[in-house]
Amino acid sequence: MLTNKELFEQAKLCIPGGVNSPVRSFNSVGGTPFFTARAEGSSLFDIEGKEYIDYVCSWGANIVGHANKTVIARVTEALANGFSYGTPTELEVVFAKKICELVPSIDKFRLVSSGTEAVMSAIRLARGYTRRNYIIKFNGCYHGHSDSLLIKAGSGLQTFGNPSSSGVPEEAVRHTLVLEYNDTEQLVEAFRVYPEAIAAVVIEPFAGNMNLVRPTSEFIQQLRELCTKNGTVLVFDEVMTGFRVALGGAQQLLGIKPDLTTVGKVIGGGMPLAGFGGKAEIMDCLAPIGGVYQAGTLSGNPVAVTAGLAVLDLIQQQDFYLRLANSASLLMDGLKKIANEEGISLSVDSVGGMFGFYFSDRVPQSFAEVKEGNQELFNRFFHLMLDRGVFFAPSMYEAGFISAVHDSRVIDKTLAIARDVFKILY
Ligand code: PLP
Repeated sequence: MLTNKELFEQAKLCIPGGVNSPVRSFNSVGGTPFFTARAEGSSLFDIEGKEYIDYVCSWGANIVGHANKTVIARVTEALANGFSYGTPTELEVVFAKKICELVPSIDKFRLVSSGTEAVMSAIRLARGYTRRNYIIKFNGCYHGHSDSLLIKAGSGLQTFGNPSSSGVPEEAVRHTLVLEYNDTEQLVEAFRVYPEAIAAVVIEPFAGNMNLVRPTSEFIQQLRELCTKNGTVLVFDEVMTGFRVALGGAQQLLGIKPDLTTVGKVIGGGMPLAGFGGKAEIMDCLAPIGGVYQAGTLSGNPVAVTAGLAVLDLIQQQDFYLRLANSASLLMDGLKKIANEEGISLSVDSVGGMFGFYFSDRVPQSFAEVKEGNQELFNRFFHLMLDRGVFFAPSMYEAGFISAVHDSRVIDKTLAIARDVFKILY
């Protein structure tokens, strides 16, 4: 039997960095990643047979618990009908109807296979619809790895034109303006400087890619008003928050209707499934009706859609989100209490099944404030918890997630481990 270390060495020889997505390599916290052999309920099991309570939950995709029996049964049945046809299916229609029903701002919906594709397509659509080029995104928000959205986090209007990945030509980000999250003044200024030129504003309505950061109500309301006033398409990137923070997504909790919404993660229940939707008038600009081209060989894959439909059924059970939110706050309140008892500054937040903890004495409202957190303490905490069988996201810039089967027994166990860890953290 190979150890994690041995397999990582082998992996690095045939996969760049040994992983198929960078953060999996523990590049932020150091050390060797573990290789998952299987998952069940609230736990992952690595190739050495070690169990971890899982608070990464496939980066938010897993909301009903790993290897849920209902989902497995429906997927197994679907597999017998073949995996991909290249023709429309009834399943896709059922799925789109359901999404439109659950998210009132969505009149029409199209499926793709990843969150990156969903946001990339929504931006193209917004540009095609408005016949404008500029877009606004916010520092610390991640919208997948398409060129025009890979922009260095930095200080507001000055940073546009600076790609944050090599291989992205400056021309590709020339029309992307990067503003600070929750900075209303900058937003007003951007619309003043670029009148009738901004096609879309794309935002994580609760940011989860700079740890968890909430929008202030003044900021999000102003954002909606400015977009309406300027004929700009407001895109809520709910790839992470969709069906994670509430059945109707972040927009339900915030009481704000975007023009377009992107979703992913939860809607596929762990299968490659994502989508985007919104006002019919905008969505009808897509090919084959309109001139905005967008396509996909595996879009609406019947196996993935079946998994997604099974998950959508499960999350509509009564009080599903209430229980999820209670579990997340139980975990976060407990963590804060025991850290503070040990004299460690820790602040916490949670929304539905998504949470954040910060080695800092305040809950951050921007990327700059997240960066004030104590990275060294976070990294030590991460490894000490991991050694004891608790897997939090391997970066202090990522939100955490729970599933419906992270019950009080699992949370109590986590907190008991955390109590021991906080005692030896310094
Ligand atoms: N948008 C947000 C808010 C995300 O969190 C992510 C992924 O983490 C994406 C888009 C990209 O999704 P994917 O990794 O499925 O391409």
